[in-house]
Amino acid sequence: WLPVAVLLALLLGVLTFHQVRYRQSLPGSLPAALRRRALRVRYQPIYDLASRRCVGAEALVRWRRADGKLLGPDHFIPMAESSGQIREITDYVLEQVLSQLGHFLGQNPDLYISINLAACDVAVPRIDELATRLLLQYRVNATQIAFEVTESGLADTQAAQGVLASLRARGHRVLIDDFGTGYSSLAYLQELPADVLKIDKSFVDALGHDAASSGVAPHIIRMAHELQLKVVAEGIEHEAQALFLAEQGAQCGQGWLFAKPLTARQFRHLVERQKA
Ligand code: C2E
Ligand code: CA
Ligand code: CA
Ligand code: CA
Repeated sequence: WLPVAVLLALLLGVLTFHQVRYRQSLPGSLPAALRRRALRVRYQPIYDLASRRCVGAEALVRWRRADGKLLGPDHFIPMAESSGQIREITDYVLEQVLSQLGHFLGQNPDLYISINLAACDVAVPRIDELATRLLLQYRVNATQIAFEVTESGLADTQAAQGVLASLRARGHRVLIDDFGTGYSSLAYLQELPADVLKIDKSFVDALGHDAASSGVAPHIIRMAHELQLKVVAEGIEHEAQALFLAEQGAQCGQGWLFAKPLTARQFRHLVERQKA
């Protein structure tokens, strides 16, 4: 048994070593990835649950590795957040969104794109100025660029409130992302300068295929309405979930039932098709 145990321990050691080295190698190569424009933006359509029309999309970043594989954000966003490199990613995504879709947004004034912000993006005023400059350059209306912040992104409440208020004053919509997974109290929510509450996928999952058990989603929707916030439900995979959430008062939703994250070109085609 002893040799087997030693062998297993060794194997485990080698595996974790590789994993750690692989992970550590990522932050270092991020600046190079940004220079090579190896980050790609995908757009997941957001639908109006009543009319079943696409009203916008969420911009989601991917990393195209040398072997052509697309690496999901969960593999590099958390590290970029702790190293501070996330700011460059945010700027890059914002620039990509406007260069890929700026013209198209100009032709479709009812459409919006929402961009994920990290905690440090809302800790100091910065993103609002970049956004204003890009909007001017591409002649896009501020109402067509929205920003998503998570509850954990609002840890420094005072500073975040200032940045969010300034974004809203400039005409941007603010969405509270992954709602219900953090620790925000009701009182605190009330203070937030926001327009939309995004119900986290875990609460939509909890509804099951047939949305037979009601769970907490209806409570979140009711609370959002009390606070005059609109609701977007994320991670909708089944028709019954879409019907149930709409019936409960959620205005919009996104998820594989409607569409997976698309390239800019695929997204434009989808919108053009629905106009026809
Ligand atoms: P998120 O903001 O909660 O984004 C939703 C995630 O759920 C996306 O994963 C999306 O592809 C996935 N999703 C949407 N609908 C469905 C569905 O019906 N079923 C399933 N199984 N999944 C669905 P993704 O693209 O891997 O993004 C993961 C997270 O990475 C995002 O979670 C967001 O927090 C972060 N992220 C992505 N792009 C950016 C970015 O540009 N900046 C920052 N700061 N974070 C980003
Ligand atoms: Ca999001
Ligand atoms: Ca989310
Ligand atoms: Ca989520």
